[in-house]
Amino acid sequence: MHLTDTHCHLDYNKFDSDRAEVIQRANDAGLVRLLVPGLHHRSSKEAVRLAESNPSVYAAVGFHPTDLEEFSENTFQEVKELASHPKVVAIGEIGIDYYWVKESGKRAFQRDALKQQLAFAKEIDKPVVIHMREENDAWFGEASVDLMKILEEWQSSLQGQLAEKPGVLHSFNGNLETAQKALAINFYIGVTGPVTYKNAEDKREIIRQLPLDKILIETDSPFLAPVPFRGKRNEPAFVHHIADKIAEIHSKSPAEIAAITTANAAQLFAWGD
Ligand SMILES: [Zn+2]
Repeated sequence: MHLTDTHCHLDYNKFDSDRAEVIQRANDAGLVRLLVPGLHHRSSKEAVRLAESNPSVYAAVGFHPTDLEEFSENTFQEVKELASHPKVVAIGEIGIDYYWVKESGKRAFQRDALKQQLAFAKEIDKPVVIHMREENDAWFGEASVDLMKILEEWQSSLQGQLAEKPGVLHSFNGNLETAQKALAINFYIGVTGPVTYKNAEDKREIIRQLPLDKILIETDSPFLAPVPFRGKRNEPAFVHHIADKIAEIHSKSPAEIAAITTANAAQLFAWGD
């Protein structure tokens, strides 16, 4: 069985004591590709370093919306230079976060940084990994409205392959309407551990309505560990618990879901099989 984890923060210090074992366990569990997204210039550099030293690891580079303290012309230039590395397959994670950031000036700064990074992704013809979190963790609100407006405008300016596969809404936590808007502009939807939680029936209902060729599975390690590891440190080897749950929701076998999501990721990130 071939699996892919399209979102794991292996550069986090929570993996400092056993990073090599974590990657080995992932490979032993059938993971053929792991994508490590950057949070700012230093973590982007670390993601690239991990990709360089591990054949199954690939990197995305960018500034996360809650990590913009050091976003400047110089640090953005560093990220731009990293982006030409052959194992950098996307710009991310970038996006909008109104959960941690409440002040309107800072929210405007997030939107501006997002737009600059989207423009760069277009320039170098690479897809984007998008983070979105609403105020109070709602499923719909200003973050969704602002984000979709920006993404729709950006996607409509694209051509060719990138217009067809512009990116992924990672760890999707929006409502069905937002998911449909994302699908309408060809975005993939990233599904994480919370889909396995006991009380997440409404989340599963949304997943049930998504076309399988648009779903990616991701751990967001070290966060969001799926059942039966909920509350513990998450790691890429656990991604099959998410595949199992999607299989249940869509009445498929886990092997089929593993194959489909691995193919979807290869389509989006163009990293070969
Ligand atoms: Zn993340």
